[in-house]
Amino acid sequence: MREEVATVRGPEGKPLYTQTLLIDIGERKRADEERERLLAAEREATARTVERQRRLDFVREAGQVLGSSTDYRSAIQRVAELAVRDYSDWCVVDVVEDGGPLERVAVARAELLSRKAAVAPDQAPEEAVREVVETGGLQIVPALGEASNGKKHSAILGGIDARSSICVPLKAQKRTLGALTLARTQSGETYGSDDLALAEDLAGRIALAIDRGRLYRAVEERADAARVVAHVADGVLLVDRRGIVRLWNPAAEAITSLSSAEVLGNSALDAIPGWRDAVDTIPVSSSPDPGQAEVVIPFEADGKERWISISGVNFYGGTVYAFRDLTEVHHLEELKADFIATASHELRTPLAAVYGAAQTLLRHDFALDEGGRNRFISLIADESERLGRIVNEILLANQLDAGRLDLGREPFEPAEVVERVVEATQVHAPAEVTLKISADEELPLVAGDKDKVRQVLVNLVENAIKYSPEGGTIEVGVAPHEDDVRFWVRDEGLGIPEGEEQKIFEKFYRLDPQMSRGVGGTGLGLYICDELVTRMGGRIWVEANGKKGSTFLFELQAAESTPAVEPRAASVELHGFVPRARRVPHK
Ligand code: ADP
Repeated sequence: MREEVATVRGPEGKPLYTQTLLIDIGERKRADEERERLLAAEREATARTVERQRRLDFVREAGQVLGSSTDYRSAIQRVAELAVRDYSDWCVVDVVEDGGPLERVAVARAELLSRKAAVAPDQAPEEAVREVVETGGLQIVPALGEASNGKKHSAILGGIDARSSICVPLKAQKRTLGALTLARTQSGETYGSDDLALAEDLAGRIALAIDRGRLYRAVEERADAARVVAHVADGVLLVDRRGIVRLWNPAAEAITSLSSAEVLGNSALDAIPGWRDAVDTIPVSSSPDPGQAEVVIPFEADGKERWISISGVNFYGGTVYAFRDLTEVHHLEELKADFIATASHELRTPLAAVYGAAQTLLRHDFALDEGGRNRFISLIADESERLGRIVNEILLANQLDAGRLDLGREPFEPAEVVERVVEATQVHAPAEVTLKISADEELPLVAGDKDKVRQVLVNLVENAIKYSPEGGTIEVGVAPHEDDVRFWVRDEGLGIPEGEEQKIFEKFYRLDPQMSRGVGGTGLGLYICDELVTRMGGRIWVEANGKKGSTFLFELQAAESTPAVEPRAASVELHGFVPRARRVPHK
């Protein structure tokens, strides 16, 4: 109520009486109060909107930081730094790495903290944090609704004097990956439910980022594994539980000549020829331990027989088989077996001759005339020499394999070597064979090992004689060719069938291993020639000699054009574990 009092006066100004009015102003007062209240509410709402907007901005910014990198550690550190701008004085994040221990990955503090308050929290996660990670439940100190009253609370983070703290688990896909802890040491109020919601939101985003980082790494690792499988030299075949081929790597394609298009997604039994018979013989183990058994089985690829060594390992999704092409090894094994057969035959024949001749000479029951004795003695000498040659071949091949061979590099006259070889061969050449020399007048010196060049020529000439059962002319020649000197031995013998021109230079390789033509040999001669010529920096090959016979040629550098070499360079290369001299393909 408002009371208004007024004096009422007469015309002369004399007071007559007083008049009092009582006015009810309740309505207006209420209206004013209502307006005040509304204004306050509006102010509060605006403040709350601003706060909410600020939180939204913070959460969005944190989300962007976490989403922009797959390296979650540095992203988490940046988010922690954002959090200490407004919401806390300290922000700490602890993470469990794939089954490892809980580890502190980020610690951030507000910039404006006083020095005293800026003591860092412990480097190791505290008991309370561990509990949050283990139980997956959160902690807030003081509890919601409980005022701090300046009382001390048991802090979550050790080492700092917190007035209020929140610790929430980082959860993704029902797993707890760590914890986020916020603490206020001086500024602001104790944490309330809004702060808790914010912390949980932030924790969720951090957990997602960690999970994504892990997934990303797993995918990368898988991609790496796939790349490895694509590049290993072993064939890899994965057959699922239903017998369908799920993986067929490039090596498998190369070994079997079956493209992945033909095999992938199809039943292994249908897609891989011979699989039905082979699969039962392949050892399959349940763990990929090393040293497990393998079988060597034949496989027909493109009409050619290949030998592959294969074994399998079972896993929950099926069986993975790894296989290698052993055709070359198998081939070499076969050649070795042939070699042992031929070499022992080769050794036995002269041995038998020597033994027979010696026995005959020792007999007392019949007398041999002078001529007879001499015949037997020269037979012994010849056959012993043959034995020596074979043994030398084997030794030399072995030395070449082991890389223990020194080669000289003195320039020498090629024509002289050719003449010596022909002269020496002429002495024991069969009558049906005519030896001929073709040497240019003007020849440069050759850079190489003279003895070894002679050996190569002797091998080639001996072969020419051996493989010319009907005789004919054998031409041994030498001529300059560009910067090189070219040697050749041309015969009119059996010749080399097409397609065998390179193989005859392989170790132990013989065109007629069963010796149906009655000509023996170790299969080492041309291998030795090839190795020696290649190691002297030259090349050797064979060409057909018109209609009949063949021409073996090799080229070596002429001495004048030889670049200055370190004196021992040629032999140094042959010691120790060094790559073999590069093979120049035969023409
Ligand atoms: P071998 O000890 O068998 O003679 P080589 O390595 O010297 O071994 O020769 C390999 C094979 O090449 C021989 O077995 C033979 O079949 C073939 N060969 C070598 N030289 C000649 C040639 N001049 N004419 C025909 N065939 C040859």
